[in-house]
Amino acid sequence: MRVQGGRREGGLSFAIIAACIMTTAVVVSVDGPHMTLPAVFRPDSELEAAARPPAAESARPDTSRRPPTRKPWQATEGEQPQKTVVEAQTLALAAAKWRLGRSPLTAPSDATVPRSPVTTTAIPVIRRIPTQDRVVFLTVDDGAEKDPAFMDMVRDLNIPFTAFISDYVSRDNYSYFRELSRLGNGVENHTVNHPELTRLAADGQRSQICNQQNILEKEIGRRPSLFRPPYGAYNDATLSAAKACGSKAAVLWTVEAFPDRLEYSGDLKLHPGDIILTHFRGPEQWRGSMTDMLRRVVNEATAQGFAFGRLDAYLQRMHPTSPAA
Ligand SMILES: [Zn+2]
Repeated sequence: MRVQGGRREGGLSFAIIAACIMTTAVVVSVDGPHMTLPAVFRPDSELEAAARPPAAESARPDTSRRPPTRKPWQATEGEQPQKTVVEAQTLALAAAKWRLGRSPLTAPSDATVPRSPVTTTAIPVIRRIPTQDRVVFLTVDDGAEKDPAFMDMVRDLNIPFTAFISDYVSRDNYSYFRELSRLGNGVENHTVNHPELTRLAADGQRSQICNQQNILEKEIGRRPSLFRPPYGAYNDATLSAAKACGSKAAVLWTVEAFPDRLEYSGDLKLHPGDIILTHFRGPEQWRGSMTDMLRRVVNEATAQGFAFGRLDAYLQRMHPTSPAA
């Protein structure tokens, strides 16, 4: 599998600016999708520098030891949360660095979603989270492309997502997914070899799902609690096997994202609780990079007034007996 070379986008100036603004710590209100930056610091030239196209590969510093920057959510229900000046400016700089239209919105800290009973014989199948919160959920499948710039971008922008990975395309570099997990993202089960499960007998399905549970527990250090059937294809045997191996829910999707577009299933817009499917793919597979894809998704969500929520938090609230987190 190909590992795309890293790219660095204005890293030095970004770090300098972030260090400068760390001297201020005042709370400001962030009002809906339009965030107003305080006038204490307007590093226009640095912002332009930060927004320049990627530098040469050799200029990329080693960021592997950089501590995670994800912060706990601070929102109150129904409003955009308050951010400190530091948080707002850091996010604005990250948005400029990754050439977004605006800073991404921040999800509410408390998931608002009704409880839902779970049967004892099969796991629930989730296509959309039944919430009125203005959140959507990003899920990224398979695992072939392991783009370091994508990891930098989700960390800088504080975008949570859930990876559903298959061993056959992930096994050459599980350290990439370990790092994504360490940064707070879900790494979940998408079978060992990505077969169409409905073509397999029950024992074949069970080995595809249970073996991947065991592999991910060993490689990532956490046993998955979520499962996504390849191609969205499942039957009763699939749901029984997944439950027997420790999965708490089968997660499908309502929207699919590519570097150049989102494909909606209904009325061409996002809805609260939509689950967005995309893939670990590179330019050879879809004429764009993973950062191009993420830029498209985040800009669309922000423009439509949506933040990115944590899938595990919402599922935990829906099914409180499930230790999804
Ligand atoms: Zn897949």
